[in-house]
Amino acid sequence: MKTITLRDGKERSLQRRHPWVFQGSIARGGGDAGETVRVEAHDGSFLAWGAFSPASQIRVRAWSFDEAERIDEAFFDRRLRRAIALRARLAIASDGMRLVHGEADGLPGLIVDRYGDVLSAQFLAAGTERWRAVIADRLCAITGLARLYERSDVGVRGLEGLEPRAGWLRGDGATELSITEHGRVLGLDVAKGHKTGYYLDQRDNRQRFAQWVRQFGCRRVLNCYSYTGGFSVAALAGGATDVTSVDSSGPALEQARRNVERNGFDPAACTWVDADVNQHLRASLESGAGFDAIVLDPPKFAPSAAHADRASRAYKDINRLALKLLAPGGLLLTFSCSGGIDAGLFHKIVAGAGLDAGVDAAILQRLESACDHPTTIEFPEGEYLKGLALLKTA
Ligand code: SAH
Repeated sequence: MKTITLRDGKERSLQRRHPWVFQGSIARGGGDAGETVRVEAHDGSFLAWGAFSPASQIRVRAWSFDEAERIDEAFFDRRLRRAIALRARLAIASDGMRLVHGEADGLPGLIVDRYGDVLSAQFLAAGTERWRAVIADRLCAITGLARLYERSDVGVRGLEGLEPRAGWLRGDGATELSITEHGRVLGLDVAKGHKTGYYLDQRDNRQRFAQWVRQFGCRRVLNCYSYTGGFSVAALAGGATDVTSVDSSGPALEQARRNVERNGFDPAACTWVDADVNQHLRASLESGAGFDAIVLDPPKFAPSAAHADRASRAYKDINRLALKLLAPGGLLLTFSCSGGIDAGLFHKIVAGAGLDAGVDAAILQRLESACDHPTTIEFPEGEYLKGLALLKTA
């Protein structure tokens, strides 16, 4: 067993059960990609078992803080069962759900989503890459499902020295699937969709939106960064009569169109716009358009804190335009999924946008990801999605 010894004073983070060891904290020791290593403090005392990643700034990701625990097939079986058992207790209103959410489930570098009877997984770090076959087998055994699609075709794998990879890992068949979320049918494609196929983290915010659209009698709705129309279908379910969806992905808009039909809503109530949101917001303002409700759910503008300044300006800009476009009394749902921007900063950005727009707004609710994307108390970095539901008051 290889040992990693930390520099004096660098043991605190692992002692607080934060699962990452950065390159700069290591005094000596190493291992192969994904190899299990014993991490010790400067004085030789045990801190954690972890997976070594020679190419990454995050040089070790901790598997366990228990010296007696062995990192073997039984370990992955226990961790996967624990994660899946948690979801079973959460009363998730969908057959599409996140089963494993990386660090928050004690499995750093692993994402597993379930879409009906298909699993879709991402192996994002050297450790999960090394244990990939074991994890795939345990997942199928525990869930009783035979099909597992791999979507490890993401840039972050490059930071771990890993190549992108995608395809059936267990079983095969059609990659076009559908789930039923809060009673609404949503088609998705595990091979071609974003992430593992769909944005499950917004499930409950889409449902809240449907309820608010009904409660406030919103008729004209603008869904920006609509992807496959989850918020658009929710708006129609809430009684909206005129729903405009904007996204720069043609295939996503095609899927969105089908999603409206799948749920029996009137296609004539929908406008699909393949465009850049910022430009579309400006054009809408110039044309004098107005909306009773707007959703802003942009992609990650700030992957890390280093991008926070530029991203802040981009967030402020779209929020300012949206607040102007909103009719008096109108509802704005605005989100950021940037890890580099925390909820406090996001609040400040949106407040700045309101000032610039000359708009007053009341916070109806603070929003976050659905509970199958948990954040643990030891790992605040896991908290990425934050949002505000605002009512324009003047
Ligand atoms: N709200 C969606 C998820 C949005 S994900 C849901 O509930 O499922 C972000 C979306 O923004 C993606 O579909 C992506 O295609 C789109 N996008 C990224 N940059 C864009 C831009 N500049 N203008 C318009 N759409 C953009």
